Formats: sequence, structure tokens, C-alpha cells
Amino acid sequence: RGRSDSKTAADRNSLLKDGKGNVIVSVRVRPDVGVKDSKQELEWDVNAKRALVSYQGKEGGEYYYDNVFDTQDNNRRVYDAAAKRLVRRVMEGYHGTVFAYGMTGTGKTFSMQGTATNPGVIPLAITDIFSYIRETPQREFLLRVSYLEIYNERINDLLAGPIQSGLNGQVGGQEEIKLREDSKRGVYATPLKEEIVQSPTQLLRVIARGDNARRVAGTQFNARSSRSHAVVQIVVESRERAGGPVGSLKENKRSAIAPGGVRVSTLSLIDLAGSEKAADSKERRTEGSHINKSLLTLGTVIANLSGEKDKAGSEKDKASKGKHLPYRDSKLTRLLQPALSGNSLVSILCTIQIGSSGSAATANSHTGETLNTLKFASRAKNNIVSHAKKADESLGNGVDAGSRALLDRYRVEIQ
Ligand code: ADP
Ligand code: MG
Repeated sequence: RGRSDSKTAADRNSLLKDGKGNVIVSVRVRPDVGVKDSKQELEWDVNAKRALVSYQGKEGGEYYYDNVFDTQDNNRRVYDAAAKRLVRRVMEGYHGTVFAYGMTGTGKTFSMQGTATNPGVIPLAITDIFSYIRETPQREFLLRVSYLEIYNERINDLLAGPIQSGLNGQVGGQEEIKLREDSKRGVYATPLKEEIVQSPTQLLRVIARGDNARRVAGTQFNARSSRSHAVVQIVVESRERAGGPVGSLKENKRSAIAPGGVRVSTLSLIDLAGSEKAADSKERRTEGSHINKSLLTLGTVIANLSGEKDKAGSEKDKASKGKHLPYRDSKLTRLLQPALSGNSLVSILCTIQIGSSGSAATANSHTGETLNTLKFASRAKNNIVSHAKKADESLGNGVDAGSRALLDRYRVEIQ
């Protein structure tokens, strides 16, 4: 490698680190679980944040990301590098979205949920949310959580009781959740159950309830979970604590002092459906047009954001001209529009797997999937430009503020 080569790589790296740090794209390689796929060679270079894929001796591509996580990296490390800062910013009033993208079996759920000994992004974020609240006695906080699933282009509320649904998507016993839009709230799902939570345990319990609703929804849980998108949304409202920090002399005067406006922001934690369904058009035809329209549209939106860049010139133009992108073509892109069109901090965790646990035939498609995922991640890195705005205390950043009475009644008490 010549000197100019490495300079290019360094330039590219610094370029990627740019973008005000509002979009983070990471690739995580999960440990090899079975027979090594001799056709696929994947090298990754954690420090250079680089993934290099070659296929049957030919170079498949060299890609740069904000983070490349090794098979040795645990969920804590992934969280610290890919989500911790974003979670903190949500507490400060910015919208934030973390999503896991990748083929089924590559570790999306493992990364988002984790295990008891290796907790994932969701539990680690919850811990940080409550730490932030404890460390910020000058403000008081109200937390609301919802949990929905997009399955066959239908939104199911995972907190509203049991979902009865087969793989073909019929659902019984639940009113269909619709997406609505208005200028004040932006895009929102309705009627969607929101739980007010006041402790980490409570919040984890609500999410576990949603996971459970998803689990009992079908006998073929794995097939279903690989085809649905799971969306946890935590709405954070805060306002200045009247009468100063807790424990201060003025605390007893809280009711006498009119508090300032309410700041509202949303943390969205999304475990996407398996990306293989989006790529395999043959399967799509046989399964019906609904199967992963959302993931396909997500790919289209991200790809077209790049087309915009060439035409529109400046990044700012690009964001404002994003209107004609096909956000409305799927539930997922519609729900994520605020994040994708730039008013949210975004972290995309793309999971890949080396080798193959299956036959030579599936190994072949794994190689294709690995490349697809790396390309998706690369497009996302180059194309999503974020202009995240901090919540305006009086406007609430496109999310409905709970009433002042709710904050009075249900604010998180500092222990
Ligand atoms: P996905 O949600 O992408 O379909 P999962 O998260 O369910 O994949 O992972 C598939 C299997 O691999 C699970 O048994 C999971 O525990 C394991 N796994 C995934 N990623 C890792 C990892 N980084 N380290 C150890 N085990 C992993
Ligand atoms: Mg999963």
C-alpha cells in the first residue's frame, strides 16, 4: 500500500467522523457459529473502522464506518460506542433513533436486548436514562413508553394485550393502529398504549410484557420475529424543577413557582426484520407483496437520499427537499421519517456473520447478504444527514407533551 492510499483512507475516515456526529453507522461481526464458508473472506480492522470483503478471491468491497465491532466485543462496548452519547442527548431534548439491521441470525436481537449477563442496548439505555435523571436534580422528568410491532404492514400494539396472529398476518382482538400526522405532533401511531414508568424495573417490565405479547402471537415465533419490526419508543419529558434542585431550601416552595415549558423528546429503539427478506425478490413474490415492504422502502429511501445529494447541492437543501422520497410507501419509513429526514440523532447497527451454520448453498447466500448489509450500512453513512434540533420548550419538537398535571403526578422521583 502506497502512502497516498493510506492518506485517502485517513481522509475518508475523517470525512465519516464528520457530519456533526449525529449519524453513527456501525458494523458488528458476530462470532462464527459453524462451518467456515470457504468462499467468503471477511477481514475487518477495528482501529481503522474498516470492513473488507472478498468473494472467491475477488474483492467485494472495502467500507468504512464509525465503528467496526469485533467478535470479541460485548454488548457494553457496542452500547458505549454506538448509543451512549445518543441516549444522553435524548435526555437533553433531542430525538434519537437506534436501529439494528441485518440478516436473521446475525445478532440484532442479541445486540438490542442482550442476555442477563450481557445486557444489550435497551437495558443499558434504560440504566443511563435513570442515571441521567439522578444526576440532573434541577429538572424533573416524566417517562412514557410504547412498544409496537410492524408485521405485514400492520401495526400491532404490543402493550395492548394479546395479539392473535398467524404468519399470514390475520390479527384478532385488537384495533388496528393507524399512523396519523399533524403539524404539532408529527407522525404518530394511534390508538397506541403508552405506559408511564418511574423506575428502571418498571420500564424493563413493560418492555418484557411487549416481548411476551410478540412471543405468544404465533407458534412460529422465530419466523414471525424475523419478519417483523419491533419498535420501543420512550418519550422523555422534562422541565425545570420549580424552587430549585431537590433537597434545596426552596424545594418546599415548588408549587408557588410557575415552572418553565416542557421539553419533549423521543428515544426509538428498533429491532428490524431480517434483511434477507428484502433482498430476496423470489421469496417476496411467493409470500405476497406485504412481506417486508417496510424494509425495502427503507432501503429505497436511503438510496434516494444519496441521489438527492447530487442534485440538491448543499446538505441543507437535501434535507428540505426530502419530501418526495417514498416515506409514505411503508409503515416503517413513515414512522421513521423524522429520524431519516434529519431531525433525529441516528445510530444504525448493522450485524453480519462470517462463515455459515448451514449448507454450502446457504453459505453462498450469506456472502451476498453480508455484502448487502455492508453496502446498506455504507449508503446509510453517506446519505443520512442529520440536523437534529433540540426540543423547543414550548413547541415540544413534534411530540405531544403530557399535561403539566401528569408531570406533577408521575414525575420520576429521585431516590
Ligand atoms: P437476529 O435477531 O439478528 O435474528 P439473534 O440476535 O437472535 O439474531 O442471534 C442469533 C443467535 O446468535 C442467538 O442465539 C444469539 O444469542 C447468538 N448471537 C448473536 N450475536 C452474538 C454475539 N455477538 N455473541 C454471541 N452470541 C451471539
Ligand atoms: Mg431477532
